[in-house]
Amino acid sequence: AEWTPDTGWADGRVVPYGPLQIDPATAVLHYAQEIFEGLKAYVHADGSVWLFRPEANAARMQRSAQRLALPELPTDWFLGSIQALVEADRAWVPAGGEKSLYLRPFMFASEVFLGVRPSQHVTYSVIASPAGAYFAGGVQAVSIWLSTEYSRAGAGGTGAAKCGGNYAASLLPQREAAEHGCAQVAFLDSTEQKWIEELGGMNLYFVQSDGSIVTPSLSGSILEGITRDSIMQIGRDLGHEVVERRVSIDEWRQGAADGTITEVFACGTAAVVTPVASLKWEGGEAVSGDGQPGKVTTDIRSALVDVQYGRAEDRHGWLTRVS
Ligand code: PMP
Repeated sequence: AEWTPDTGWADGRVVPYGPLQIDPATAVLHYAQEIFEGLKAYVHADGSVWLFRPEANAARMQRSAQRLALPELPTDWFLGSIQALVEADRAWVPAGGEKSLYLRPFMFASEVFLGVRPSQHVTYSVIASPAGAYFAGGVQAVSIWLSTEYSRAGAGGTGAAKCGGNYAASLLPQREAAEHGCAQVAFLDSTEQKWIEELGGMNLYFVQSDGSIVTPSLSGSILEGITRDSIMQIGRDLGHEVVERRVSIDEWRQGAADGTITEVFACGTAAVVTPVASLKWEGGEAVSGDGQPGKVTTDIRSALVDVQYGRAEDRHGWLTRVS
């Protein structure tokens, strides 16, 4: 679909996948005025197809649009575009195991001009890509690399928006993490370099020895993950106290050492819930538990995946059927 101030959103249609024609002076190529979302469609045992919390993605896209000076995409356009795409060929949604159809809505500045101001022509599009099970041989615990040199986002910046620029900033530290054998990079806040924000593409949770689960509070520069939000609810459903508060890097190191933090896990749409075995940094490592996926992590993961695949009751109205 295309937007201009005169027409508003118009020309929504499903087209065969193919390249876009991009003029070299297209605004997004120079100033990165772009946002995106990520969500999944799942096949249930009876063959029906469902989306997980698409209104939450629509709402986050609106918040991202606002921050990036992009036009608001009404929720019915967002939901309608995804429904139309998935309905075009239901066979795109892979069935069996933990397979799903990953959906990637995105919006970008498509006006052709050189100059720094919000684009007066904006394009919105959705692509779909089948996703296999994230962990081929069962859920595996990963190591995380603490970035001490780089931040992902700063106060007043775009950290809470899902915009391409945030990921551009995290590519180098993410590569550093990979070079140290770690699956993801962990970022601290940019002001005090003390508080844990999130990972390159996931939010974090800590399981404490008293059974409570803690996630870093939304600082203004953390992406408000939909999986993070769902786990706050599931954690409570499973009887855990759930706390949003600041967690310092020293608390993580100390808690791993003295056993007050018994499990750590990361969460996001792609891998749902990933156990974190250890945090590594230049010259050190903090290991939580015995390095194996912990019980609380495993139980929370199962509870969430069971809702997504229709094996457990959808108590919170998270699923939307694709007609
Ligand atoms: N933080 C970042 C930086 C991310 O890219 C993602 C993935 N969208 C998340 C957190 C988790 O968000 P969600 O649960 O909505 O996928």
